[in-house]
Amino acid sequence: MFQKILIANRGEIALRVLRACKELGIQTVVVHSTADADAMHVRLADESVCIGPPPSRDSYLNIHQIVAACEITGADAVHPGYGFLSENAKFADILVAHNITFIGPSGDHIRIMGDKIEAKRTAKRLGIPVVPGSDGAVTDEKEAKRIAAEIGYPVIIKASAGGGGRGMKVALTEADLDIALQTARSEAGAAFGDDAVYIEKYLQKPRHIEVQVFGDGFGRGVHFGERDCSLQRRHQKVWEEANSPALNAEERSRIGGICAKAIADLGYSGAGTIEFLYENGEFYFIEMNTRLQVEHPVTEAITGIDLVHEQIRVASGGGLSVRQEDIKFNGHAIECRINAEDPRTFTPSPGTITHFHTPGGLGIRVDSGVYSGYKIPPYYDSLIGKLIVHGRNRVECMMRLRRALDEFVVDGIKTTLPLFRDLVGNADIANGDYDIHWLEKYLAKEE
Ligand code: ADP
Repeated sequence: MFQKILIANRGEIALRVLRACKELGIQTVVVHSTADADAMHVRLADESVCIGPPPSRDSYLNIHQIVAACEITGADAVHPGYGFLSENAKFADILVAHNITFIGPSGDHIRIMGDKIEAKRTAKRLGIPVVPGSDGAVTDEKEAKRIAAEIGYPVIIKASAGGGGRGMKVALTEADLDIALQTARSEAGAAFGDDAVYIEKYLQKPRHIEVQVFGDGFGRGVHFGERDCSLQRRHQKVWEEANSPALNAEERSRIGGICAKAIADLGYSGAGTIEFLYENGEFYFIEMNTRLQVEHPVTEAITGIDLVHEQIRVASGGGLSVRQEDIKFNGHAIECRINAEDPRTFTPSPGTITHFHTPGGLGIRVDSGVYSGYKIPPYYDSLIGKLIVHGRNRVECMMRLRRALDEFVVDGIKTTLPLFRDLVGNADIANGDYDIHWLEKYLAKEE
């Protein structure tokens, strides 16, 4: 097992990882920018190293500084959290070259999944169902027309290097195809320095369903069930649940089994999430994230397994603590992402939190790095906490969520809490009847 882990992140996820390390008796080092000197994870860590000024590129994305912090403190492993360097293959490779363990998959696996064309090709080869579309990059318009006619309109043009929902264009008919192709390509070139794009069928009312997987480092793969993250705004997840209200046990075990086998065949090590669109009973792979997800606590709630413990065990060569047959799904969990944003316009609302009171009681978990008097710096993303609620079934979970939202107090800034208080009383949400466009339509109606 590791002696000392360096946590290369900030906010709630840095604290989340720190808690797991403490439980496992592992010393912790955190790195932080000058803007985060007062952060909770800095206060609670055994050691901290300031690695630079507030902009992420000078601190949390500064590989040299982070490696230097490992050398100075003698850390033998790095947990990257999510975001920042968590899916940076070069970072993983550099750590390995310095004899420091990257708590995540190999650089090569990160590289494959970071290139969407390559990822889709790999998924298909591994027997994962994919969205019908072009085999690889599409360059000329003739070819694009031929493929689109074959799969049928509407189609979506997507950037191979895409991320965060950028570089995507929908063509409803052949008349839109040329312009969609050109715009997607130039947007991708400008945003990612790579203008390769591909075509796939545009699904009109899908749900976003993702499967949590793990490779144990010895060639075995397991799945921890799925999460439904269909409630999104601008492709950003807002509310996540496990299990999905749309799947039955047979579908869960079928898609889970396919994913676990793929992970084993790939020789993947550590945590990963295979994302699908789900429509009319069919799954369509869209991408794989090679890291811990923001929404991992809903999976922890229904399985009772600490996924960060498992990541650390696997990275240290100790394998998983569970086998597939030990993983049981208990009840229902929902996570609400609480952002420092206006609940209608979603404009960021940084500033000082004058009062912060979290709900408690059975089935309630709050993962947050903030506290009363904390000043939210304007430099980073606006997530200030996550409310995760567990119940024996979805009805109990929703009742408990409504009560927890009532208890939650965040004064001094605007947050997305009022949005969740509205959603919890909505009939479609109560029925679990929503697709990936539901929230945008709901917000447009409310305006
Ligand atoms: P990114 O890496 O930019 O987040 P994804 O491939 O994960 O890109 O897609 C992000 C979102 O875009 C999906 O959650 C979905 O809302 C939409 N999307 C992507 N592909 C399709 C498709 N084939 N049909 C319909 N919507 C899609």
